[in-house]
Amino acid sequence: MDALTTRNPVKVLRTRLLVTGVVQGVGFRPYVHKLARRFGLSGFVQNGPTGVVIELEGNGEQIEAFLGAFHAEAPPLVRIGRVERSEISALGGEGFAIHSSKSAEAAFTLVPPDICVCEQCLAEMRDPEDRRLDYPFTNCTNCGPRYSIILDIPYDRPMTTMAGFAMCEDCRREYEDPEDRRFHAQPNACPVCGPRMRLVGRDGVAWSEKEPWTVLQRVADILRAGGIVAWKGLGGYQLACDARLPGAVEELRRRKRRSDKAFAVMVADVEAARRICFVSAEERVALTSRERPIVLLKRRDDAGLADAVSPANPLTGVMLPGTPMHDLLFRVLRNSWADGVALVMTSGNVSEEPIVIGEEAAQAQLAGIADVFVHHDRPIHTRVDDSVVRVYEGRAMLLRRARGYAPNPVWMGRGDLEIFAAGAQQKSAFCLTKAGFALPSQHLGDLENFETLEFYQETLDRMRRLFHVKPTVVAHDMHPDYMSTRLALAMEGVTHVAVQHHHAHIAACMAEHGLEGRVIGVAWDGTGLGMDGTIWGGEFLAADYTGFDRYAHLRTVPMAGGDTAVREPWRVGRSYLLDAFGGLEDRARTGASYRMPESGEEEGTAFSREKVRIVDTLLRRRLHTVETSSCGRLFDAVAALIGLRQVVTFEGQAAMELEAIAEGDGESYGFALQPGAKGSAMQVDLRPMIRAMVQEMQNGVRMSTMAARFHHTLVEVAIAVSLRMRDELGLTRVCLGGGCFQNMRLLDGCVTGLRAQGFDVFYPVDVPANDGGIALGQAAIAAEVMRSRGA
Ligand SMILES: [Zn+2]
Ligand SMILES: [Zn+2]
Repeated sequence: MDALTTRNPVKVLRTRLLVTGVVQGVGFRPYVHKLARRFGLSGFVQNGPTGVVIELEGNGEQIEAFLGAFHAEAPPLVRIGRVERSEISALGGEGFAIHSSKSAEAAFTLVPPDICVCEQCLAEMRDPEDRRLDYPFTNCTNCGPRYSIILDIPYDRPMTTMAGFAMCEDCRREYEDPEDRRFHAQPNACPVCGPRMRLVGRDGVAWSEKEPWTVLQRVADILRAGGIVAWKGLGGYQLACDARLPGAVEELRRRKRRSDKAFAVMVADVEAARRICFVSAEERVALTSRERPIVLLKRRDDAGLADAVSPANPLTGVMLPGTPMHDLLFRVLRNSWADGVALVMTSGNVSEEPIVIGEEAAQAQLAGIADVFVHHDRPIHTRVDDSVVRVYEGRAMLLRRARGYAPNPVWMGRGDLEIFAAGAQQKSAFCLTKAGFALPSQHLGDLENFETLEFYQETLDRMRRLFHVKPTVVAHDMHPDYMSTRLALAMEGVTHVAVQHHHAHIAACMAEHGLEGRVIGVAWDGTGLGMDGTIWGGEFLAADYTGFDRYAHLRTVPMAGGDTAVREPWRVGRSYLLDAFGGLEDRARTGASYRMPESGEEEGTAFSREKVRIVDTLLRRRLHTVETSSCGRLFDAVAALIGLRQVVTFEGQAAMELEAIAEGDGESYGFALQPGAKGSAMQVDLRPMIRAMVQEMQNGVRMSTMAARFHHTLVEVAIAVSLRMRDELGLTRVCLGGGCFQNMRLLDGCVTGLRAQGFDVFYPVDVPANDGGIALGQAAIAAEVMRSRGA
């Protein structure tokens, strides 16, 4: 070290670095400053229009030592994207300077996500001697809100929702001191100068409590009595109640008009999480990560949670406190109540609308749900819901990508074209590209109500402004009725690129893993419009970014009733039954020649005998039917056939329950690979499986066994078709994509089975496997299509 800090007068070099990534407002410049001084380098660091510019002057060893430490020691929020290095002539000069921000005109800077409170800030707020004791809005350069409070670039305090708070002298001193942990921490605040919380009844009348501890003490009392509380979190309002009180949870479900979707639960720490769920070492890492996502965990039998928390689901989403306020709340709860408190923590919204962020909106929209409101006066600019992950092979696979992750970029390369990729309809999220980065938006929701559409449009406008993106290319799904497609097509003066749904799923997986060339794509999901006008969803594609061949797919069946069929799995169950027993071809046969495992319930129900007869007729005559190869619908069909579930309240529910009940290794059922008619794709014929299942039903085989065998069959299908594709096409890499791969039994079976056959297997991790990840694939395809056109 001594040798390095002594200037070498012989050979002085100067290196210029242009660094792009999340490098502004995250302590990057002070970090560079410290590092340069440590290695005895002179020069400067400065924000420039295309990234941070660093000039280092010293001898070669010093510069290399700096570069050696540069990535490894970066502060937590920094994400170094790309470093362009050039050698320039030495200038002489002493010392290392932090130059102030240049004008941000046309600047492109990445913005950090909202990150959980750090250990040092927590220690301060628990220290009775500290001026931030119990202060619920403490933060520093390494932690706290970012994306949700940033109005515009450059990321300076006036451009955040903290603009209205003038820093007190103490805070200002911290803010201006390059050696301080709060140097240029834009949301810096303290009890003297920062935001405050307020307790307000559902009638809008403020309660008398003012201090954070006493406010939360009242909240604790209300929760304990079975009440429901709404409070303003980092990216929106959350609703909470005691997860152990059946009455409270059922009441929340009723008031929120929530279907059967599981609620997430917040507990104080890992120990408390272990009391309700099994937590592996890797899951522990995800739980305590600074993104603080909801982690799906296997629940213990003695968890003590109300059944209504996650009905018919062996998993519970668990999250740990991520803000100073949540931490304080759990300290209050522990102090006044008991250890092991588990709170339902769910998005503050009605039904499927976007999460509420404003105080007035909360009082208006959530008045029928919450008994009391905890507001505070730091406005939320951008809504970001809680993220959801599941841990697989040591990595947190994103199922919902929002708080903590958005707007982190994915490095995509493939040119500087600025693209807007509109995404799909369900679980929508779009993606922008800039300077080689893909910038996926946060989870926006199903584009089925006006509020979500508004949220989508608003987020698009903001991200375009924030990242200075002016798209010249707009990519969208081929489905003309997706709201995202309509919005994309309404944009004028741009080049439109229509992308097939499942091609986009595979391209998203490729882009995330930086794959080039052609791959085997296994795209299994609910619904996506195919090239032939039928509904695809059980696809094997030989794909690269510019195109694909549909090599094989699940045998197509007619499905009666469009959206109704999604809500009523028994309908597609009938499709598979009739198909398997020849009932679709022969109209004369009425069904007498084969036995139905279930033929409907009493009149007036969704699954009545009368309705079954009508649907059978529609299917035979192909009236009001669509043809589909959907794997998601196959899951529905099987769940219905074995008598597990005939009607659902959300898409994927039947599949989740099928995964949940599956037990044992279960041998594969039979299936056949049938060559397609000339020029068309091979079909995977699962009729042997359906017939075997009906037989098993009659023999009283347990549902759990059949569910396991079904999963295993699909795994065998994936392997068999991939092997053929390898033989015929020479492809050795398999990309998995589509919502079905959120099913761990299916995912793990395919990954393990394919690897055992020598394939390289890739699956989505950083963007969701479901339609929430599709925009990344659309963007990658559009970029490559434009490049191949010479654009
Ligand atoms: Zn901190
Ligand atoms: Zn202050």
